[in-house]
Amino acid sequence: MSLIIAVDGPSGSGKSSTSRQVAIRLGARYVDTGAMYRAMTWWMLREGIDPDDPSAVAARCGEPAIELRDDPRDPHVSVDGIDVSAEIRGAEVGAAVSRVSAVPEVRSRLVAIQRALVAGARERDEGVVVEGRDIGTVVLPDADLKVFLTADAAARAERRAREQAGDGPVDGDAVRATEEHLLSRDAIDSTRAVSPLAAADDAVHIDGTYLSLDEVVDEIVSRLPDRT
Ligand code: C5P
Repeated sequence: MSLIIAVDGPSGSGKSSTSRQVAIRLGARYVDTGAMYRAMTWWMLREGIDPDDPSAVAARCGEPAIELRDDPRDPHVSVDGIDVSAEIRGAEVGAAVSRVSAVPEVRSRLVAIQRALVAGARERDEGVVVEGRDIGTVVLPDADLKVFLTADAAARAERRAREQAGDGPVDGDAVRATEEHLLSRDAIDSTRAVSPLAAADDAVHIDGTYLSLDEVVDEIVSRLPDRT
């Protein structure tokens, strides 16, 4: 089944877990576009490029080779052959990624890679779930299904803080700090000039605040167009 599904929404809304689960259920590929923006940011920081200097970011963003493994059971991203899947989740990349992502040259380069991945899946007659901020609006406006997944800021922060704490306890200060960080990232992502975070006019809106992962996945699968 070669359906193309776009999943957009703010940080911490559960897009990644949901998109991976949907892809696994459908036997589809999974493209995490946020991982690509994070990988680009990781490289910029390693090269000593100031993320607040858009011309420096624009001048160098054609250099790193960013590759994504689109297996939903084991997604990975690499830069110049180095697997950076773990490093890109760190605080340093998290603090800089929205500024690097706002640079138009970065976006056009990564959008081209994203569209090529989708075209490859289509040629092999495979479905693909693509998650990000601008997938339904800019990257794949012809997607078969567009989902805009949201959740209350407090619920998103709680979920992220829990993930970050692993098996350890989660304290209130950590949740508050995470909420502040998520809201500041959302603010930059929603107000940037190029491809801001936005729902497509024809997107299905799902509020996951009070839903389990399985419930959100069920809801998405139930909305898929019937191709049989
Ligand atoms: O999805 P994730 O939280 O990993 O995305 C990290 C950042 O990458 C976002 O906050 C946003 O700045 C950027 N991003 C983007 N467009 C996308 C996906 C992510 O600008 N399609």
